Amino acid sequence: MAQPRSTTDRSRLLTRLAAPAMTAAALLGGSPAPGVAAPEGLGTVESYSRALAAVERAVHALGGPEGAAALDSVTFTLETVAQATYQSSRPEPPFLEVAVTLEVEAAPGRRWARAATATVFPDAAFRTLRLLGPAGGAEIDPETGRSTPAPLAWEDFARDFRRSPQLVIRDAWERRAHLRWLGTLEVEGARCDLVTFPYFGRLELTVAIDPEGRVLRHEFLFEDVLAGDASVVASFADYRRDEGGRWLPGSFGQVEAGGPAVEGRYTRFTVGGEPRAEAFAAAAPQGGNGGRGGAEPAAVEARAEPAGGGGEPAAGPLEVAPGVHLLRRLGGQDYNSLLVDLGTYFVAVEAPLGRGAAAEIAAAAAALDPDKPIRYVVPTHHHDDHSGGVPHLAWATGAALVTTRGNEAFFRRATAARRTLGGPAVSPPAPAEIVLVRDGEWELRGDRTLRLLELGPNGHADEMLIVWLPEAGLLFQGDLIRFPEAGELEPARPQAGRLLELLEERDLADARIVGVHGRVGTVAELRRAVAAAEPGR
Ligand SMILES: [Zn+2]
Repeated sequence: MAQPRSTTDRSRLLTRLAAPAMTAAALLGGSPAPGVAAPEGLGTVESYSRALAAVERAVHALGGPEGAAALDSVTFTLETVAQATYQSSRPEPPFLEVAVTLEVEAAPGRRWARAATATVFPDAAFRTLRLLGPAGGAEIDPETGRSTPAPLAWEDFARDFRRSPQLVIRDAWERRAHLRWLGTLEVEGARCDLVTFPYFGRLELTVAIDPEGRVLRHEFLFEDVLAGDASVVASFADYRRDEGGRWLPGSFGQVEAGGPAVEGRYTRFTVGGEPRAEAFAAAAPQGGNGGRGGAEPAAVEARAEPAGGGGEPAAGPLEVAPGVHLLRRLGGQDYNSLLVDLGTYFVAVEAPLGRGAAAEIAAAAAALDPDKPIRYVVPTHHHDDHSGGVPHLAWATGAALVTTRGNEAFFRRATAARRTLGGPAVSPPAPAEIVLVRDGEWELRGDRTLRLLELGPNGHADEMLIVWLPEAGLLFQGDLIRFPEAGELEPARPQAGRLLELLEERDLADARIVGVHGRVGTVAELRRAVAAAEPGR
């Protein structure tokens, strides 16, 4: 592709660049493939011009004769099946499949947005509806219609809008000064222009635009919990034209870190026309707790792009028993870790989320005792929201990782992958040492005893570790039961019943229960939650 250009070509290019009122199209007319730039420049003008020409082509292919104006009103419904790669029972395929329906209505010129999702797991379903309209942002409870004002910003819809080539191109057009041309690539038999720009001003997105102006793919970099530096590639296919001659995609696919992640079809698509103001108007706020209502994040894609706003700051360590420190609300989210002081070293139980939370755990240990290393890190299970901080914490502290046989390969790979995006860690300083819990139990003794118990298959993950601190009468678990900070106990899921069995088998009815999520609870509360979910037990 990068062919040396003759002097004649260079001077011709210079003449073109010097022409003041030339459009991008005229500038590119008959221009040979770019390679070496004009001697005075670095090729930025040419790169911009080529990118702009491709995006203009897409604006007209997707917006029709009205062009960008038509992209100011886009409505679609996308029905997908997503692989819950890092939320399945086991860390290898076949993974749990989750049905996700996304309904979007967007009016970018006015900054109005509406996104409704329905996420159906085999044993549970969650629905969310978020609005940004003339009256501001709101979250609506789809069951009751109650609306709660929410500080939603336009950027909070960036992930939803990536499912629409029209909305991606609308954003590229708006930020056109940042467009750059990377080259061409054959995609599905079509020679595509590759254009890159900061999508929503914060995610460097590369878009493949075919000669017809259709967006066939887009891609961005992200940190995968297992593979480290990786990319998310979305593809749009089965294009057809609407009555106005605009191209509409028929199907959508997404590959994450090289593995199939999402596949689906558009069941509704409209582009152009007046945005329906009423679609973006929330019902009058009614207060109460009509907000998220304990809905669990779909998690399937949550890892791909951090959501805006981190909520409240971490609450600081709470000494729940002598030498046992609960680190609450890591990253400002409902995630806790436990630091157990065994006298000459700490054990960190759970390193959730990612590099930020791992740094908080390391800092908390250093604040408690700068001379005491974290010698072991114990993830409760392999799910990405619980294991994302493990490589970072292991690298930062040199801690050994304690896990079970079935999760060994997962953590070996996760701690060996390069992670250069977004922080100082570049590659593993040394392979992390892995300690395996065999025969269901493992113990450390120091100033106090720390015992790891393997729960066994339970409906949530096939291999999970629970921490038992006998002197403190304290048990730490992840995702088996959640005692909410406020409000009623939720009915227990099947895995809570398995935890209760284990506590009964071991005669631990007086234990206090701490978790990755929520507050400290009791076995009596656990029993009540299990009874509510399984009457007759
Ligand atoms: Zn989990």
